Amino acid sequence: MHIEVRNLNKSFGNHQAVNDVSFTIERGKLIGLLGPSGGGKSTLLRILAGLETPDSGDIFIDGKRVNDVQPQLRGIGFVFQNYALFKHMNVFDNIAFGLTIRKMGKAEIKDRVHELLDLTGLRGFEHRYPNQLSGGQRQRVAFARALAPRPNLLLLDEPFAAIDAKVRKELRTWLKSLIAEIGITSIFVTHDQDEAVEVADEMLIVQQGKLEQQGSPIHIYTDP
Ligand code: ADP
Ligand code: ADP
Repeated sequence: MHIEVRNLNKSFGNHQAVNDVSFTIERGKLIGLLGPSGGGKSTLLRILAGLETPDSGDIFIDGKRVNDVQPQLRGIGFVFQNYALFKHMNVFDNIAFGLTIRKMGKAEIKDRVHELLDLTGLRGFEHRYPNQLSGGQRQRVAFARALAPRPNLLLLDEPFAAIDAKVRKELRTWLKSLIAEIGITSIFVTHDQDEAVEVADEMLIVQQGKLEQQGSPIHIYTDP
């Protein structure tokens, strides 16, 4: 989907976490949201997701203002750094979770979960529990779970930060091809510039709550 954010503001006490931020994201783009810790990246994502209410400003998804739309009705999937899979559920049930709560039929759930197992390379792991998986595999389950309800926007908040460097590099490559395959608009938060450059079609750079730059990695790093 196409995202437009206009003049978004959010303060916590007297600290302005998001300061008059406006941007648009074209459908199907993978956006890197980059900036130092405490700069307002997570707050921005939480506002887009509807988990945090902005003090002022508007959010449009495909031209429709969604400020007052409930989080679960915005069609957004999430993956967080320490995405807590349900420990007592196997991979199948973790992936199926968002479908079960939407009361999808059993046969349809099974088809959908199998589709996601194939897409994320987890076929054969459906009976395993989270503690029987590597960190990288767990994050792939988290992606499968986020994608199962077929969201139109995927929000990724430092999804690989807790994973060791070698696997993190493999996961970046994997993620890029996964997102290209399904063509979903995505925002990838990171404080790692190399990661942003490698993953993103376009970058948003936020610092102290302000959007400092938006553009392609090449544009930002070769044309200061
Ligand atoms: P980033 O994701 O870039 O690290 P955050 O959006 O988490 O930044 O935080 C931006 C600023 O807002 C920080 O100063 C942080 O301490 C503050 N902040 C975020 N969430 C809250 C909250 N719920 N209550 C108070 N302050 C918050
Ligand atoms: P098939 O033989 O058609 O591949 P199975 O019935 O063996 O399908 O199921 C494949 C996997 O999906 C198994 O791991 C099974 O436990 C799991 N599964 C199927 N339906 C459900 C369900 N409703 N809840 C949890 N797991 C399920």
